Amino acid sequence: MENHKSLIWPQAIVVAILALCGAFGIGLLLPVNPKMSEAQTKQALDSKDLTAKTGTQQRIEKFKAMMLTSWQEQAKAKGISYNLPSHYQGATIEQAKLSPGQKVIALTFDDGPWPKSTAQILDILKENNIKATFFQIGQNLKNYPDLSKRVVAEGHVLGNHTWHHWYHYLNPQAAAFEIESTTNLIYQTTGVKTNLFRPPGGVMRNGVVDYAKHKNYAIIMWSDDSVDYSRPSVAKLVRTVMKEAKPGGIILMHDGGGNRSHTVEALPEIISNLRKQGYSFVTIPELLELQDKDQALAAAKKQVQNKDQNTTTDKKPTQSPDQNTTTDKKPVQSPDQNTTTDKKQ
Ligand SMILES: [Zn+2]
Repeated sequence: MENHKSLIWPQAIVVAILALCGAFGIGLLLPVNPKMSEAQTKQALDSKDLTAKTGTQQRIEKFKAMMLTSWQEQAKAKGISYNLPSHYQGATIEQAKLSPGQKVIALTFDDGPWPKSTAQILDILKENNIKATFFQIGQNLKNYPDLSKRVVAEGHVLGNHTWHHWYHYLNPQAAAFEIESTTNLIYQTTGVKTNLFRPPGGVMRNGVVDYAKHKNYAIIMWSDDSVDYSRPSVAKLVRTVMKEAKPGGIILMHDGGGNRSHTVEALPEIISNLRKQGYSFVTIPELLELQDKDQALAAAKKQVQNKDQNTTTDKKPTQSPDQNTTTDKKPVQSPDQNTTTDKKQ
């Protein structure tokens, strides 16, 4: 039996090789077959090509869908959270303190998402390549989740503006509901774990801010109120914003909560005027990050100046901003630095 088997195998291999050679030969002859018109040949080749292409395309699409799902799952699992240093947790911020040369400003939009106006504002921001910060109301988010998804998908930042937008006093349980249910829905809808809070109407003493601080949110107020909720003329709206514009400023506008057609109309002019004055636009987390860097740099410069005054031998040209931290990580220290202890003015 075994001998018989061993004889069959070499035969099978020879047959297979012959068959392969035959197929290869026919394949070589095909393109030059005189009976086949050029169009037919092309068609045959094209259809082969198309099948291959479709197969590849399908594989790419499948891969893309797989990656997207996995990315969305990861984002949901981890949550997109804004990087807020601990000193901003529970702090109230009305504007960033920046050196005059730092002409950055933050556009913020409250009370959305809202049909029509939120999408119009997003369109304007997209055209101008600007990222902004939106403080949204939970019950509006429940009604228009796709608008919030678009806000996040287009790179803007989402903050919590309570569920009902109430001004009256709220006991701790009610305050917890206003904030937690909104943050939870923002997370479920967009994957964003927000740590930014803006109290409705800027009311600080009705219980919600206390709760938000206790939960380590940064309380984001504003330095430049457009007063757009009172629906002034477009010209007046632009004037009001421009009058209060300053480096590190936070501009308050509304994309929801009523007819916002004046805000939508004024926005391109506001953007263009600010740009003419040399401003660029940042989100709230970016603004806070810039404030930290700016202050660190200023402190480092001051340190260098002080050192120059104290020692003429130390010739380090530059210093990194984080040298400003009080952890004393300076790579080189001149011996007499220890004697000049408190250099802060
Ligand atoms: Zn509001």
